[in-house]
Amino acid sequence: MSDVLTTRVLSTHTQALREESVRLAADLLRAGEVVALPTETVYGLAANALDAAAVARVFQVKERPATNPVIVHVASLEMARRCASEWPVVAGHLAAAFWPGPLTLVLPRSGDLPGVVTAGGDTVAVRWPAHPVIQGVIRACGFPLAAPSANRSTQVSPTTCEHVLRSLGGRIPLILDGGPCNVGIESTVVDVTGPVPRVLRPGMIRPAEIEAVSAIAGAVVQPVDAGGVLRSPGQMPRHYAPRIPLEVWAWEGAEELLARLRARGLAASQVCVLAHEHLPPREAGLRRVGVVPADPVAYARALYAELHACDEAGGVCIIVEAPPEDPAWAAIHDRLRRASA
Ligand code: AMP
Ligand code: MG
Repeated sequence: MSDVLTTRVLSTHTQALREESVRLAADLLRAGEVVALPTETVYGLAANALDAAAVARVFQVKERPATNPVIVHVASLEMARRCASEWPVVAGHLAAAFWPGPLTLVLPRSGDLPGVVTAGGDTVAVRWPAHPVIQGVIRACGFPLAAPSANRSTQVSPTTCEHVLRSLGGRIPLILDGGPCNVGIESTVVDVTGPVPRVLRPGMIRPAEIEAVSAIAGAVVQPVDAGGVLRSPGQMPRHYAPRIPLEVWAWEGAEELLARLRARGLAASQVCVLAHEHLPPREAGLRRVGVVPADPVAYARALYAELHACDEAGGVCIIVEAPPEDPAWAAIHDRLRRASA
């Protein structure tokens, strides 16, 4: 990308600042520009979903492959239904249970949406986010916003304004600062175009919750992720990845961890460790030790900021302590798998 822009960052900390920044973001979006906005999952790079050229600009700025469709963000049920040519009964139940929130529904696509949004496919992914800033911008615009994560393709998603600035500074005109993201990893994506809702991408809303609500809707209930997570267009095996190679290890004591590093010929000063239970001591001389809470919700909230911090710290690898094997941790395992692929 040759053209270098000045990237403005606007705070949304007070009502007056929020109103002013929302107005400016909506003006830019109406003019076909792209703007980075906070959501409760990760920061998104938004464009008018009905404007093919604006959405194409999102792909260009992110260097995102055209085969990877983007999620369309709405601020009402009515707006969600206008993005779809059909509204299955189960979509209504899932929307009532989880919207606004970190759930994306894949629906039959409306003809109003340009093909660039859906990567040429006949389905569209739609989400009503819970963050008040993006909600305010969507309402001010009156049109839905196509918004993938606000980072260059394949990198770790941004969960703070600073992360966006580091990845896309100079490429976009504006970032609204809504503080750190509360969920911290990307939404659960559920395909409701078939007889059985299917989880295409795990997130913090779990398959068991999707199943429970789907059953109320009278949908056939099978384990929604039986046989593993299904492929979604553009779900690359390596994704959400730090620049530095990442590996997931289990260890009992610090001695075991350090012995394994030595056996691999890795100097402690070159290694970043992310631990939630067995914390290596300061004397181990590791380059960076990140400590994340041993609770899946708090862990997800902290994970990407820790990976960004490891990228900043440098070194030759990141070793992440293996999280518990429990369904509540499934989305975290998924992201660590992609980060280490
Ligand atoms: P993100 O990069 O966080 O915006 O996530 C976009 C992801 O949503 C894609 O990589 C797909 O996994 C999923 N997605 C978007 N649109 C569709 C669609 N029409 N059908 C299935 N999955 C989709
Ligand atoms: Mg992304």
